[in-house]
Amino acid sequence: MSTSAAREASVIDGVQKGLFIGGRWVDSSNAGTFPVVDPSTGTALCEVADATPQDAMRALDAAVDAQAGWAATSPRERGEVLRTAFRLMNERVDDLALLMTLEMGKSLDGSKSEVAYASEFFRWFAEEAVRIEGNYSVASNGQGRTMVMRQPVGPCVLITPWNFPMAMGTRKIGPAIAAGCTMVLKPAGLTPLSMNALAGILDEAGLPSGVLNVFTTSSSGSTVGPLLEDPRARKLSFTGSTEVGRKLMEQASENLLRVSLELGGNAPFIVFEDADMDAAVEGAMTAKMRNIGESCVAANRFYVHESVAEEFSARLADEMGALNVGRGTEPGIDVGPLVDASQRDKVAELVDDAVSKGAKSLVGGSKIEGPGYFFEPTVLVGVPDSARLLNEEIFGPVAPILTFATEEEAVEKANGTEFGLVAYMYTSDIKRGLRVMEALDTGMVGLNRGIVSNPAAPFGGVKHSGFGREGGREGIHEYLYVKHVAIET
Ligand code: NAP
Repeated sequence: MSTSAAREASVIDGVQKGLFIGGRWVDSSNAGTFPVVDPSTGTALCEVADATPQDAMRALDAAVDAQAGWAATSPRERGEVLRTAFRLMNERVDDLALLMTLEMGKSLDGSKSEVAYASEFFRWFAEEAVRIEGNYSVASNGQGRTMVMRQPVGPCVLITPWNFPMAMGTRKIGPAIAAGCTMVLKPAGLTPLSMNALAGILDEAGLPSGVLNVFTTSSSGSTVGPLLEDPRARKLSFTGSTEVGRKLMEQASENLLRVSLELGGNAPFIVFEDADMDAAVEGAMTAKMRNIGESCVAANRFYVHESVAEEFSARLADEMGALNVGRGTEPGIDVGPLVDASQRDKVAELVDDAVSKGAKSLVGGSKIEGPGYFFEPTVLVGVPDSARLLNEEIFGPVAPILTFATEEEAVEKANGTEFGLVAYMYTSDIKRGLRVMEALDTGMVGLNRGIVSNPAAPFGGVKHSGFGREGGREGIHEYLYVKHVAIET
């Protein structure tokens, strides 16, 4: 076995494969397991426990049992657990990054960035735990006093996707811990190992038993459904596709759960004629290629002013063509595989559809033969309005470029989608920047920036991209309810 193969095996061996319930790692009640696959080879890395609906209910039991005690801890104590977990994550960044790359595919540098980003939610919410405020005031008629306080909503059901296996977890776990909530978390079946590693770190950081419970499963619907119907659960926070989010919201409505949904996107990236072209191309590469294009905030449609479209397209194609595609564990790799065969085939189908309708590929355009699920970094020009990839999330390394003539047209096209997560815009005219930023129908805008993610800022969308915010001052409020106490004087 080569040194690198031995290190990969040791990192996989070092992570727990069971269910984390009530502070203990246990097997599934029917001893079932399912495989975790390396998307760069298509081979299984290991097996993890396959929770049954009974296991999921045991996880909720543990969260319910721990709720009152956890809510009674001091904010400082909760913050210290998060601060310790932040430190441990950064001390172990190399192993955590390798684990993530093995199960998800992104380059080691991409995984290291995610571990750093993910850990920052713990540091941020460690600082927010001690700033849960209320107020006290004289009633408007002078008779009586009004006190407003915030309390933890109670046991939460948290569901995370595979594309950022750790950060999508810490963005929920951090504020839930800070607010004094207990939780049951179900990571995506494609990437359970990063979440198990994170649960181990929180345990080591001193999180009391039952505050965080994690179950992995190959049967998401039958395990999560009963949790949402249980009146002891008080909140659902979901990150994933709009389709599944809509279904879960419907299920959660029976029990009137507090709901936060971080759903799909279809981000426009607008380049005006007065943009700094070097900055626009650099920002486009970040907005498109971070996480191999498998990101809800990935630029999905490029609208470039007709006077600079040729230059922008040629420069973007040069940059995309120069990227190194390969197994994320290898040195110098920029672009790893897509997460599985169906994701890769969907990207291929969207590109074929656009090309069959008249789009031209400046670079890339095809699947790369296996093993693994690789797709060439691709730039398409002359994309017709009827192409499916303008209306669907591509979730891959494909940049479709369209042109526009006026600012009004750019804004209208950018807003012409059911999604509203993020939009990017490059201009050197400050007045235009402010005007267009206000006109964009999205929860976030990147103004001369190709990345908006920041633990200290509220992340979230409008329209079919969901509601609720993660990160920033707003993030903790998703896990707190407001109580008004009317006081007789
Ligand atoms: P997904 O298929 O909706 O899955 C998300 C999570 O839901 C996974 O844990 C999945 O588990 C689970 N799930 C699927 N069906 C379920 C059901 N019937 N009941 C309960 N849970 C269920 O999304 P994905 O493919 O993992 O992630 C990609 C999507 O996430 C994209 O649309 C992306 O835009 C979105 N996303 C949004 C944000 C944001 O902040 N707005 C961030 C990241 C990703 P299994 O897969 O194991 O079944």
